[in-house]
Amino acid sequence: MSTAPLPTAADRTPDPAPIDDVLVLGAGLAGLFAARTLAQQGLRVRVLEARDRVGGRTLSHRLTSGDVIELGAQWLGPGQDRLIRLVRELDLATLAQPYQGKKVLAIGDRVSTYEGDIPSLPLLGLLDLHRTLSRVDALAKQVPKEHPADAPEALAWDGMTVESWKQAHVHTAGARALFDIAVAAIFAAEPSELSLLYFLHYIHAGNGILNLSTIRDGAQQTRLVDGFQQVCLRMAAEPALVDRIHLSHPVCAIEQTSDAVDVTAQSPSGPKRFHARFVIVAIPPALCAGIDFKPDLPVARKQLQQRMPMGSVCKCIATYPRPFWRERGYSGEAVCDRGPIRAVFDDSSADGKRGGLLGFMLGDHLRSEAERDPESRKRSVLSAFARFFGEEALHPESYVEHNWSLEPYSQGCYTAVMPPATLTRFGHTLRAPIGRLHFAGTETATRFPGYMEGALESGVRAAEEVSARLRTR
Ligand SMILES: Cc1cc2nc3c(=O)[nH]c(=O)nc-3n(C[C@H](O)[C@H](O)[C@H](O)COP(=O)(O)OP(=O)(O)OC[C@H]3O[C@@H](n4cnc5c(N)ncnc54)[C@H](O)[C@@H]3O)c2cc1C
Repeated sequence: MSTAPLPTAADRTPDPAPIDDVLVLGAGLAGLFAARTLAQQGLRVRVLEARDRVGGRTLSHRLTSGDVIELGAQWLGPGQDRLIRLVRELDLATLAQPYQGKKVLAIGDRVSTYEGDIPSLPLLGLLDLHRTLSRVDALAKQVPKEHPADAPEALAWDGMTVESWKQAHVHTAGARALFDIAVAAIFAAEPSELSLLYFLHYIHAGNGILNLSTIRDGAQQTRLVDGFQQVCLRMAAEPALVDRIHLSHPVCAIEQTSDAVDVTAQSPSGPKRFHARFVIVAIPPALCAGIDFKPDLPVARKQLQQRMPMGSVCKCIATYPRPFWRERGYSGEAVCDRGPIRAVFDDSSADGKRGGLLGFMLGDHLRSEAERDPESRKRSVLSAFARFFGEEALHPESYVEHNWSLEPYSQGCYTAVMPPATLTRFGHTLRAPIGRLHFAGTETATRFPGYMEGALESGVRAAEEVSARLRTR
């Protein structure tokens, strides 16, 4: 890192553009919530967003029938108090994710059904699964939410993958298969891609593995009738922010001086410069790696950005004239250990008239399916739906898929994950300010990281950090 003194604003050619109090990079939930919090305090805020829309990893799509499907974030659940409050405040209508009825379990060639939250396995497998879930929760509770690297076994746990822990502690084929599906469904990554410490922290911060994997009283409990992107659209339309958001402005350079920050974005009409006292970077760590920082970032922060890959998820949504599976007593939920789809949910309209099935292509399966041509991929997704719920699934009214790994300003989803030797060595840089730069984004949260709730927590935390510094200036 350079040791040269920082230039002052006076060293630069004067620029007529007025200086803002805070520039927020990224108009996802974290960035918009930070900007809103600061604007409500009367501060002069501006938001720079790379995409031509707000919402980031929330993306709601209106079908020709008029109802909305979610291509990004879809559910909120108990304990996600900031999001619940915001949804109420913005007066957005909710609907309950249906869970009543038989669920499908497809392991190997065998397709069976079960009721309740935990799939039915032969007795030994079931005992093994219960023991595994309790053990995960007990270990997770030993990982502090604020400072996971302070866990008593932090170094050992961060030195191994979730896969190696599973090989040592989960003994039956059925429990292993279900554990793999749960990990893929929660992280959009394989157990071999995740540090055990990171995994345990995420589980603890998300109130336990059952909370994160269930519908009833769990993280998949509630949808929004008009979709979660509305939360971002409504915040962006508020008077304090409406003229302060610049879309299609990917930030490419950030230069800190001793008293301000200069930010350059590639606007549709060419490079544009903005100036502010402070900057909140509300974009995932891997995407920060594409920004030219001056002075250079500390080595540990740069290396964190190289070590937090995004998960791999493609949502596949087929719509039908009616939810035909309900007539046969199915809930529309399925879990499967084979590709292309590992988890399925009912994605029907709020009034239950239009049917919908939502399949998740995750981790290794997404990577191999992404190489196929779209028509044969669609056929294999619909065949999976038909395997679970019957031949009618082969004939949808519409079919939409959205692969987040192809989005240049996300590069994957749901969230950035950590392989071994990352959290203990580089985790301290996730939300540590660097000069006038403060960091937000769901990855930096201490409760529900990876979730919309985590994005809100991070936004308000970064806003408070900056407003405290502005007050003491
Ligand atoms: C398929 C899918 C399903 C999900 N399901 C759920 C769910 O059910 N429940 C839940 O709570 N969460 C879910 N999530 C996760 C949730 O969407 C995220 O946790 C949350 O939206 C992250 O918000 P954020 O503001 O931290 O990041 P983002 O939404 O990623 O916002 C970052 C913003 O920064 C912008 N940006 C990137 N680079 C630049 C740059 N150089 N310059 C300017 N702007 C830039 C991006 O375009 C983006 O708008 C899901 C996500 C996906 C994709």
